[in-house]
Amino acid sequence: CGIVGYVGGRPALSIVLDGLRRLEYRGYDSAGVAVVDGDTVLTEKRAGKLANLEKALTQRAGDSIATGSTAIGHTRWATHGGPTDRNAHPHLSADGRVAVIHNGIIENFARLRGELESTGVEFASDTDTECAAHLIAAEMRELRSSGAAPGPALLAEAMRRTVRRLEGAFTLLAVDVDVPGAVVAARRNSPLVVGRGQGENFLASDVSAFIEHTRDAVELGQDQVVLITPEGIEITGFDGAPATGTEFHIDWDA
Ligand code: GLU
Repeated sequence: CGIVGYVGGRPALSIVLDGLRRLEYRGYDSAGVAVVDGDTVLTEKRAGKLANLEKALTQRAGDSIATGSTAIGHTRWATHGGPTDRNAHPHLSADGRVAVIHNGIIENFARLRGELESTGVEFASDTDTECAAHLIAAEMRELRSSGAAPGPALLAEAMRRTVRRLEGAFTLLAVDVDVPGAVVAARRNSPLVVGRGQGENFLASDVSAFIEHTRDAVELGQDQVVLITPEGIEITGFDGAPATGTEFHIDWDA
């Protein structure tokens, strides 16, 4: 329902939580975050209000979820799988290396899930979303096995290969432990905007999530993938061809 992503030099968790709060008016049944720090992706997710998630986060000490500077956050309006902690987003790949959040519905998820299960993947939720995490991780493994070094470009390619297999409506964001300092996103029939900062960039389903940080935005076109790093924004079509979104300045109060 609500989506926020951040990459930059500041602790990402509080920025993402603030963004989710700005999107709360849309209604949701669960909330969650994933933060990449060093060589781990740390997640926390809870059914119910953001306050439940925040309470769980304050009880965490000893890991760097509050300090990592790459993060994604989600508020969920359940379509597939009840509104429970385990069905809340983010969803992780089986190897724990990729985390995804998603708005919308992946219509062919049952077939994709069947294919993944036949290769031995165990699912941890009842959502349509989770198959995207396993698919991106599998594409990353395949790209790396052919000798490519992990990095933002590889993550973008893994996302493109994955979304070409998805049917339905999605705003999909992913992070990978081997690619710190990058968030990749894709959209089809579901909204996604980028916020341009200085040494930091934002993603959201609605500009109100990042308007206190920047008013320079880019609206993604249909069937586009965007990669954000602290240094820049790179947009392509699902086929990998360079593309552009629609640049605009937010001069109203969102
Ligand atoms: N279809 C996904 C789910 O049920 C995403 C729902 C949403 O847009 O929040 O988990």
